Amino acid sequence: MKSVKLNTGHSMPIIGLGTYLIKDKDTIMEVVRASLESGYRAFDTAELYENEHHLGEAFEKFLPQFKLKREDIFITSKLATNNQGAEKAPKAIQETLDNLRTPYLDLFLIHWPGVQDLNEDDPQNREIRTQSWKCMEQAHLNGKLRAIGVSNYTVKHLNEMLDPNSPYHCKVVPAVNQVEFHPYLYQKELLEYCNQKGIRLEAYSSLGSQKSQDLLKDEKVALIAKNHGKSVAQVLLRWAVQHEIIIIPKSSKADRVKDNIKIFDFELSSQDMETLDGLNKNLRYSWDPSKVF
Ligand code: NDP
Repeated sequence: MKSVKLNTGHSMPIIGLGTYLIKDKDTIMEVVRASLESGYRAFDTAELYENEHHLGEAFEKFLPQFKLKREDIFITSKLATNNQGAEKAPKAIQETLDNLRTPYLDLFLIHWPGVQDLNEDDPQNREIRTQSWKCMEQAHLNGKLRAIGVSNYTVKHLNEMLDPNSPYHCKVVPAVNQVEFHPYLYQKELLEYCNQKGIRLEAYSSLGSQKSQDLLKDEKVALIAKNHGKSVAQVLLRWAVQHEIIIIPKSSKADRVKDNIKIFDFELSSQDMETLDGLNKNLRYSWDPSKVF
């Protein structure tokens, strides 16, 4: 399985299973089984998804069946907006570890730059998320979080962490920034910024999220898919991988989970890539972090 190097030196599989909105235990069991069987070794969850405990149970059940150990898989979770800050973050990290039945996480992200119950333009957002980051740095130092990162951060949010002259400067550079990224939201500037700073970009909603079928029905993508004898979903995922972006497609259906990983046996031409890049219309299906202070 293709993987990428994080700035911690650890490897992260370039494809993982997204699990947002899969809460039902039987479905989790089935998709974890199907994903391990078809070669997935990474899983993306969050406190907010309310499925960490089912995933913990699924790993305990299925890893031995596939002759795998904890260290053979890569688990990501995220700090919820209502657990930001120096007081709540350490407890939330421990709860996530307990839920997932693991002594360490491979990657832990601040889910959102804002804090629950604060307005987007409230300057306290950046003070409180900096406190969260410092708690995560501590848990990183003591080995509970092998890598730490952020999600939904813009260049502004990242700059404030990386600038040595900023009062919000942080010691550890985020390993990953997980953001919405697909051909209708080709965030080129953010991708280039992250590449330059050694931060891996990870795409969510690669297939256009559960809210819309538009990307999956796009005629230009469908034509490229037809030319390669692949599905539209596989072309959308391959496009991100060829940009060296980590992907976490979500499906609650075992057959789709299996199809979504069959993207390493073909290559999009530079012309295909240009066509897909050219579909950008800055369209977001998910939350927009650009106004968070
Ligand atoms: P995706 O774009 O990955 O998937 C969208 C929908 O496509 C799914 O609901 C799925 O429906 C359907 N689908 C999956 N495979 C196929 C296929 N082969 N053909 C046709 N349809 C398919 O959506 P998400 O928004 O869930 O993003 C992926 C993951 O990213 C999340 O699950 C989560 O882990 C993470 N995420 C992170 C966010 C953040 O703020 N950090 C925000 C949103 C997501 P079905 O289940 O019916 O197959």
